[in-house]
Amino acid sequence: MKKRDLRNLGLAELEEFALELGLQRYRGRQLFHWVYGKCVDSLEMMTDLSKESRELLSENACISSLLEIRTQVSSDGTKKILFKLEDSHTVESVLIPDEDRLTLCISTQVGCGMGCTFCLTGKDGLVRNMKSSEIVNQVLLVQKGLQARRGITNIVIMGMGEPLSNYNNVTKAIEILKHPLGPAIGARRITLSTAGLVPGIKKLGECSLNINLAISLNASTDEQRNLIMPINEKYPLKNLLDACRKFPLRKGRMLSFEYVLLEGVNDSPDDARRVSKLLKGLHCKINLIPFNEFPGSTYKRPSDGAVFKFQEILTDHNYSVFIRKSRGRDILAACGQLREKINLPFEQ
Ligand code: SAH
Ligand code: SF4
Repeated sequence: MKKRDLRNLGLAELEEFALELGLQRYRGRQLFHWVYGKCVDSLEMMTDLSKESRELLSENACISSLLEIRTQVSSDGTKKILFKLEDSHTVESVLIPDEDRLTLCISTQVGCGMGCTFCLTGKDGLVRNMKSSEIVNQVLLVQKGLQARRGITNIVIMGMGEPLSNYNNVTKAIEILKHPLGPAIGARRITLSTAGLVPGIKKLGECSLNINLAISLNASTDEQRNLIMPINEKYPLKNLLDACRKFPLRKGRMLSFEYVLLEGVNDSPDDARRVSKLLKGLHCKINLIPFNEFPGSTYKRPSDGAVFKFQEILTDHNYSVFIRKSRGRDILAACGQLREKINLPFEQ
């Protein structure tokens, strides 16, 4: 029998697994705490299990990890970590320190199938979905490498891939990350960003995860959005914004809309005015992301003046609008600059 990877099992599955092995159900809870809370890599370290139980486990179970193959540090303190998966594909996570928070941006797919024309991750299409173990392991491994005093405070699911097209593995991973016996990252501190998969948004709204939702709007008309985000042909703006209007928001929460500013494409004052109309009545904030260039990109980053003007128009319409600092641009760690291809030999 193939050994089960404990890091790919949620709490209920671990309890089931314990029963399958002839152990008591509560052992599953202990396993959960060891694997996700105490973050042990070896069954040997599970000292509250009898020697027999540990032997039984080692015959039937294993604990997966990721191989950290390179860490690059940006001049602004942002770190990009390249992980190798079991099948040798690579994914990236980005650790972003701020005054009062330490945010980890995690990946959910190898590559991405959405084909947004301004994004490096999507250039070669989707390679595969990441397993829930691979998603959680990014957090566990980065957390382990940190000074104990300062742990990860926030998670943004905005790395490589479209999280809602890997719905089951992503939501399973979130459940684990939130759990008090695991990494215990509160739902308010977890944000998932989507290109706008309407059925996934609905499903997320109906489930009990209660995490924050960010939507990559990126255009002010369907025509424009079709050109840069092919997913818009399937789920045009009206459907997308309807789903956003119906998304249940807990007290004190709001939606976030991301808007990548591409010079001469979607960054005019008229675009800003149209965006303000589109989002009317939505309890939301807007994050403007001036385009991050990458080798071979055809779009341009707008001037600071154009970015501020865009912000001002939306602010005048009473929106809270932030310009996202492009953290880690010098090491291609900023939004849309992550890609699985690596060039050997590695630095560092
Ligand atoms: N697939 C999800 C999450 C990953 S992309 C999504 O699309 O929302 C994370 C964010 O990076 C999105 O808002 C996307 O619009 C933005 N982005 C992609 N490429 C970019 C680039 N080159 N410059 C700036 N932002 C970019
Ligand atoms: Fe995929 Fe998001 Fe990049 Fe679009 S912007 S290709 S959805 S990762």
